Amino acid sequence: MEILISADQIAKKVQNLGDQISRDYENTAPVLVCLLKGSFIFTADLMRTIPAPHTVEFLKASSYGAAAVSSGEVTTQKIPLDVAGKDVLVIEDIVDTGLTLQYIIAYLAQQQPASLRICALLNKPTARQVDIPIDYCGFTIPDVFVVGYGLDLDERYRHLPYIGISPE
Ligand code: 5GP
Repeated sequence: MEILISADQIAKKVQNLGDQISRDYENTAPVLVCLLKGSFIFTADLMRTIPAPHTVEFLKASSYGAAAVSSGEVTTQKIPLDVAGKDVLVIEDIVDTGLTLQYIIAYLAQQQPASLRICALLNKPTARQVDIPIDYCGFTIPDVFVVGYGLDLDERYRHLPYIGISPE
């Protein structure tokens, strides 16, 4: 598989994002909302770069459609989540069309958190359909389908320590 971003590059970037987040949330204990499943490895690594107190919650966002195509129809499974009055940082693996995050932001905003920001490891701006402000962005990548470091193709490849261009 062609490696797009090595494990070493990922580790350095995650540390860098964690440093920024630590500075910005110095006086508060944010809630990291990990979007399942793709963000679980990123979230686990990111948390360990943030020494100050914070908590983690999980939300499952699913987009219906063919494996490699985002259909724009999004739903959530009801994992109990109470972020009212809290400083929320959504952790996303990759922003493509932006439709998933558009839905998630609206869903979380209903609970009236004190603040709501986005941290995304990968950004594919060429496919964007809605404008999403990414407050903490890891890497901007071209419009290729990537796998590894939590990202799958039909549930495969999540375990890879690097991000590669899907061979299929
Ligand atoms: P969006 O709603 O922004 O179009 O899509 C976001 C979701 O689509 C991501 O959370 C991810 O699950 C999936 N996705 C988009 N691009 C890729 C990609 O290149 N590789 C993988 N594995 N998933 C992707």
